[in-house]
Amino acid sequence: MDDFRAAYEALHWQVESGADEAVGEGPTLVEWADAGNWKLEAGVKPPSLSQSAAKLTPSEPHKPLTSSVQLAASPPASSLQPPAATLAELRAAVAAFDGCPLKFTAMNLVFADGNPEAPVMFLGEAPGEDEDRQGVPFVGVSGKLLDRMLASIGLDRTKAYISNIIFWRPPGNRTPTDAEIAACLPFTERHIALVKPKVLVLLGGSAAKGLLRTKEGITRLRGKTGSYAQPGWDGPPITTLAMYHPAYLLRQPAAKRQAWADLLLLKGLLD
Ligand code: URA
Repeated sequence: MDDFRAAYEALHWQVESGADEAVGEGPTLVEWADAGNWKLEAGVKPPSLSQSAAKLTPSEPHKPLTSSVQLAASPPASSLQPPAATLAELRAAVAAFDGCPLKFTAMNLVFADGNPEAPVMFLGEAPGEDEDRQGVPFVGVSGKLLDRMLASIGLDRTKAYISNIIFWRPPGNRTPTDAEIAACLPFTERHIALVKPKVLVLLGGSAAKGLLRTKEGITRLRGKTGSYAQPGWDGPPITTLAMYHPAYLLRQPAAKRQAWADLLLLKGLLD
């Protein structure tokens, strides 16, 4: 029945996205190396969707760069991270943090939802009005679409963990500033280190640019997989994928075709 439901949701999503034929665009590889020192690959032959997961095992390094954009180095995140040993401690540390001015205009802290044991962690931008009211990420219209995107590949909030790179609603839902993102980033990096998902999905430009410390836009970053690690990381790098934000898909339904390809890629990484 689960399979039937997932197949139904997948078909529903595709038809709504305007699909009238099979598509299967492969991703291009991006080496998302150590935090603060990202390298963007260009011109590397993409793996097919079905091969993606196997190609991304840590023991099999990416092909050498054919051309690269060296991005500006930042201070090592680990040296800035709050010393939280559990998610409950991290939540308490965020709640006690006064360094992000958004805290003082928001109603609630919005920390996370879903299952922290799940193999996939989604990071969005910042809470909106509904999220601010309820203190739960992705519960408004974007969240409803995210739920349907999850369902289209057989996921729900028991099988995924969801948070944002910003923990408080920016007034009027404006885009968070670089300073606000920088203030929250050590907590987000600790968050990822504690959850250690198998796959990290960055929803939208703010999450992708903020976490990967790149100026590259989401249009170029989406659909590409890479590996994420932090200085002092003791496990294998985390396979990371950037996708369009659901709010963007609501404004630009034509982009759902690319989002569907990205969802298939994510499913392949998780299977
Ligand atoms: N948009 C986001 O990026 N996050 C939310 O939690 C809700 C909307």
